Amino acid sequence: DLARATLTTCPVPDCRHAADNCEVHHIEPWARGGQTNMNNLSVLCRYHNRTNDDDPDRHNRGRIQVRDGTPIWVSPRGTPVPNNTHQYGAMHLLFGT
Ligand SMILES: [Zn+2]
Repeated sequence: DLARATLTTCPVPDCRHAADNCEVHHIEPWARGGQTNMNNLSVLCRYHNRTNDDDPDRHNRGRIQVRDGTPIWVSPRGTPVPNNTHQYGAMHLLFGT
């Protein structure tokens, strides 16, 4: 629920899947030792959760990273691109800068 409060939609640019319908994604993969806490969780729609470059050495489809406390999609070339489809969620409005 906290992960869903952080973002209103899947963070991949132009994706319109609402956070309520998204899966909870481990930014540092659980299989690689990533922890289940708010610093390592983001919502991602089912499709983007499966196409995310979980391996940091893979640069095919981009991956979710945390920048300034907010999960954001980072392109395969390393450029962070926000999803501006909807405004940030409640946590960003309360605590964001
Ligand atoms: Zn998506």
